[in-house]
Amino acid sequence: MNLILMGLPGAGKGTQAEKIVEKYQIPHISTGDMFRSAIKEETELGQKAKSYMDQGELVPDEVTIGIVRERLSKPDCQKGFLLDGFPRTIAQAEALESLLDELESPLDYVLHVDVPQDKLVDRLTGRRICPECGATYHVMYNPPKVDGKCDHDGAELIQRDDDRAETVSKRLEVNVEQAQPLLDFYQDKGYLQAVDGDQDIDQVFEVIDEKLQAL
Ligand SMILES: [Zn+2]
Repeated sequence: MNLILMGLPGAGKGTQAEKIVEKYQIPHISTGDMFRSAIKEETELGQKAKSYMDQGELVPDEVTIGIVRERLSKPDCQKGFLLDGFPRTIAQAEALESLLDELESPLDYVLHVDVPQDKLVDRLTGRRICPECGATYHVMYNPPKVDGKCDHDGAELIQRDDDRAETVSKRLEVNVEQAQPLLDFYQDKGYLQAVDGDQDIDQVFEVIDEKLQAL
C-alpha cells in the first residue's frame, strides 16, 4: 500500500496519518523525520543535506530524492508507506515516479484531505494559548470552561501572532500555490483521491478506510 497524503495546514492530515499507519501498519514517512534520521545516521546524503541546511539553503532535489530512495528501500517499507510532505514540487513528483518504477513498487493513491479555505481559517485562528502554563485551547473545538480564561490557573488566554487571520490566510495562500500543481499532476495520472475533510475526524477516516480496503 503506497500512499501520499496531502492537505493544507489545519486540514487534519496529521490525525488521519496516525490513523492510517495504526490500522495498516505501514511507516509514516514525513520529510522532516527522514532528514533528521539521515543526518543522525550520518549517511553521505544526510551530511550533504546538513551542509545545505546549516548554510540556510534549500536542499537540492537530487539530495532530497536520494534520501527518499534510502528511506523507501528500508525493509519496513516492503508492505508500503505513507509519504507526508513529499513531493513538494513537480520535479520531485517526477523523480519519485521514476524511483518507484525502479523499485517496482508503484503508487496506489494520493489522498487529499480537502477542506475549504475559509473553514481552515476558522480552524487555524481559533487557537488560544495560556501565557502562564502553556495550555492550548480552541474557541470552537476545545474551549476553556470560562470564556478567555485558562482552566488551570485562570490566566487570560492569548492568540499567537502566527494564528492571526491575516498571517493564517497568507500561509494558506502560499501552500495552495505550492500544492495545486501537484494535485493537478496526480489528477492527470489518475492517482488522486479527494476526501472531504470538512467533517468529523472519524467520518473522514471512514472515507479513507473504505478507499484503502478497496485496494
Ligand atoms: Zn494556564
